[in-house]
Amino acid sequence: MSYNYGLTIEELERRTSTDCLLTKKMLDVDAPEFASLIDGDKKALSYLVKAARIIEKINMQLDSSHNLAFKKFLEEEIKKGKKEAELTKILFDAQKGIFALDCESNLVILAKDLELKKGRGFYPDDLSIEEFHKILIKMLKENKIEDVRKILNQRSVIKRKNDELIAVDYVDEFHEDFKKIAELLLRASCLSTNNNFNEYLRLQSQAFLVADPMLDAYADKKWALLQDTPLEFTITRENYTDEMTETVMENPELKALLDENKIEAVSKDYLGARVGIVNKEGTDYILKVKDFLPLMAQNMPYKDEYKQVISSDSKISQTMVDVDLVEVAGDVGAFRAGITLAENLPNNDKLSLTIGGGRRNVYHRQIRFATSEDAKKKIQQRLDNILDKSLHKYYDDKMDHPFTIGHENGHSLGPSEGTEGLGKYKSIIEENKADMVSLSMLDILKDAGLYSEEEKIKIIVTYAADNMLKSKPTLSQAHRVRSVMQNYYFIKEGAININSEGILSVDIDKMIPTAQKMLAEIIKVQLSNNIERGEKYVKDNFIWTDEMEIMSRKLKKISKRLNGKTEQKLADKLFEEQI
Ligand SMILES: [Zn+2]
Repeated sequence: MSYNYGLTIEELERRTSTDCLLTKKMLDVDAPEFASLIDGDKKALSYLVKAARIIEKINMQLDSSHNLAFKKFLEEEIKKGKKEAELTKILFDAQKGIFALDCESNLVILAKDLELKKGRGFYPDDLSIEEFHKILIKMLKENKIEDVRKILNQRSVIKRKNDELIAVDYVDEFHEDFKKIAELLLRASCLSTNNNFNEYLRLQSQAFLVADPMLDAYADKKWALLQDTPLEFTITRENYTDEMTETVMENPELKALLDENKIEAVSKDYLGARVGIVNKEGTDYILKVKDFLPLMAQNMPYKDEYKQVISSDSKISQTMVDVDLVEVAGDVGAFRAGITLAENLPNNDKLSLTIGGGRRNVYHRQIRFATSEDAKKKIQQRLDNILDKSLHKYYDDKMDHPFTIGHENGHSLGPSEGTEGLGKYKSIIEENKADMVSLSMLDILKDAGLYSEEEKIKIIVTYAADNMLKSKPTLSQAHRVRSVMQNYYFIKEGAININSEGILSVDIDKMIPTAQKMLAEIIKVQLSNNIERGEKYVKDNFIWTDEMEIMSRKLKKISKRLNGKTEQKLADKLFEEQI
């Protein structure tokens, strides 16, 4: 298969320059974290890296039907010495696919004439939303209820069959690859030194051999209990990218039929794999928050109107680890404007939560750190340009970490189910909620002794400064849309202000009450489970104002960054290792 390059050589050179493309370095070959592992764990890591890379291959196919062919095309062109191929491959590896939004919300398409599909690689390329809805309505009227249910679940790939659609579970669709992964996980489970970890690997391995979501639930349940293991391995299954499935909520006739048949439409999962080594000291820091979770649950707005994963009277089924990363493969490692700092899984749509399974938070050390002198200089330059001088002493980039901890825990608080009705606004609202939980609990956590007054102020100011955006995001960028919504809301409430010169000031006393007010509104919207309410809330607040535009222009001048890539030297070495 032959392709044309989507970017000119000049554009490729610009986008791959160190100014535009940030590098996040995973553990290196001589990392002390790796050297201090027991031999069995070292060997197990090698199998886990191999498994992760197959997950990446599968995910590329879920992302676009062209990804693998394009990758092969690039590899052959590189052999012929084509410079364009070499540079395009750097970006392809960074964004892990042909399509990605960059930091300025431009859609980067590495292959010319290809179009980003709403249904990504999950749906037939030529299926329009209109036809999709028409077929589902017809199938429902013909009583093909179970077939439609499978089409609209998280884990199926959709194909045409005559004039209808048929769902194939991804475990069946990629059976050969999943079989290989299952075998690698089993081998790792014979070598690693931790029994609980090994049992999880065996359960996950089984779930890759038979297409049964309950097997994943057993694996997830075990995984969520892992706390004191030397190694970290996670299969991430999250849905932020498929924009096709949720459109069914927007068609009144179809929605009525789905409601009647009790079919819930859930966006399709991307797959990722994270391989790492648990960091003891970092984990101890994160665990300090755990004792305060019931207190946070108690202080959630409208807490009597829903069931929370964490309640004030039950024991907390949530583990938390800080991890030194060896490899982030597939979805979890894709640089698409940003890359994940931490994850709280499984998400609310997963079965394990219905069989008593808890959640697990994993924090990514190598993504979090800005260690280079250059990076530090950039931070100072940014502050000098955008933040009120009197607040500089409160800006501390390390304070992003406690904010993130609050955010991840925020996902475990509030209504734990029944928000699918918010359709494409679900993720935006959920991400917004997590941020507002983090901010609104700061006084409570300070009074309870977790943070000092100074730390509290630093968290607030650092959040406000970091929430400024370089460009207006598109509606598909849940994590960024929520930042605009918050900035709009906090400006409206007088908690923050951006003056005509684009300088941000923060009214520290107003920040927490404003967050509490916004959180209460968000919980109400979630409880309504109603797409019109969700849409109204997002549209009322997703407003890009003139002062945000002034700010974004300044930020663009300071930072040329357009995207980033990961470097994983230890993983590369382990991948080549023959055991
Ligand atoms: Zn989140």
